[in-house]
Amino acid sequence: MRPFSYERAADPAAAAARAGQIEGARFIAGGTNLLDLMKIEVETPAHLIDVNGLGLDEITETGDGGLRIGALVRNTDLAADDRIRRDYGVLTRALVAGASGQLRNKATTGGNLLQRTRCPYFYDTAQVCNKRVPGSGCGALAVGASSRQLGIIGTSDACIATHPSDMAVAMRALDVVVETVNPTGETRTIPLADFHLLPGDTPDKETVLAPGEMITAVTLPAPVGGRHAYHKTRDRASYAFALVSVALIRQPDGSGRVALGGVAPKPWRSDAADAELPNGATAVIAELLKGARPTEENVFKIALAERTLAAMLTED
Ligand SMILES: Cc1cc2nc3c(=O)[nH]c(=O)nc-3n(C[C@H](O)[C@H](O)[C@H](O)COP(=O)(O)OP(=O)(O)OC[C@H]3O[C@@H](n4cnc5c(N)ncnc54)[C@H](O)[C@@H]3O)c2cc1C
Ligand code: SF4
Repeated sequence: MRPFSYERAADPAAAAARAGQIEGARFIAGGTNLLDLMKIEVETPAHLIDVNGLGLDEITETGDGGLRIGALVRNTDLAADDRIRRDYGVLTRALVAGASGQLRNKATTGGNLLQRTRCPYFYDTAQVCNKRVPGSGCGALAVGASSRQLGIIGTSDACIATHPSDMAVAMRALDVVVETVNPTGETRTIPLADFHLLPGDTPDKETVLAPGEMITAVTLPAPVGGRHAYHKTRDRASYAFALVSVALIRQPDGSGRVALGGVAPKPWRSDAADAELPNGATAVIAELLKGARPTEENVFKIALAERTLAAMLTED
């Protein structure tokens, strides 16, 4: 691990201001992803700004019947909150499908949205990777490379990595909005649909956040009702990332929402695919994965997504 300096911020605006002043500064929340990456020198921040203890660990009610989740709310606490369990069941189910109990006790809402990909070539500094070293090439697309875990849609010739978060897939189905503060103290709201970027030619740029901009909260709109389900298909029953995951909210009339994880650089959902829900899993997945560019090794994810959703639709 490279040497780095460390400070605790006084409040969110001060944290963002400091991040704007110091070249190479990064926020640290639970540290469950950032510290792992620092140990293997995939990430080498010169300075860490600790955003724990800034009063961002509460879940409060909003004026329009929704909930505001502070960026530092731990994944365990979010999953266990009575209001989340009652009105946003898809979120609780997605959270408990992720990582392990110990990790969820540390992992935060903001950090979870910003966790880096699990592409094995990204983690191996002996390999080329456009996300880690822009312009170096994509190890996952090299001859003989393994792409089984990687993306099938929204990818580019420069990068086929997926976003690994389970929580984000459920949040996409719930239409959450991300709240931020920037180094000059300005705040803004960003729909999660627009928060993560597709790789294009710049896979190192993963979100619309500006340098030094900090997540302060995530807001859930008022509950939409319906039956909530999250199914994660993976190589092991626990402690593994999704090959394919499906977040489903289904209304009694058969309409609803579907978001996919494990297939793209961001949680994957479209209005056109949602509209196909009354027509069944084949129609939804055909629409949602229209234009997919799988590799030979991961083309199975298309059928897996369809079967996973089909199984969930029989559970009513
Ligand atoms: C063994 C293992 C298994 C896992 N399995 C799963 C899984 O199955 N599913 C899943 O979804 N996740 C899984 N995870 C990932 C885990 O959920 C994330 O590591 C965690 O959510 C990250 O949150 P954190 O608070 O620890 O983030 P940190 O590690 O502290 O930070 C992550 C990134 O976010 C930035 N950041 C943090 N907070 C803010 C903020 N408020 N504003 C701006 N930037 C911020 C940091 O600078 C850093 O770049 C696993 C992790 C491990 C180690
Ligand atoms: S898929 Fe993306 S993260 Fe993986 S090696 Fe290629 S550029 Fe790097």
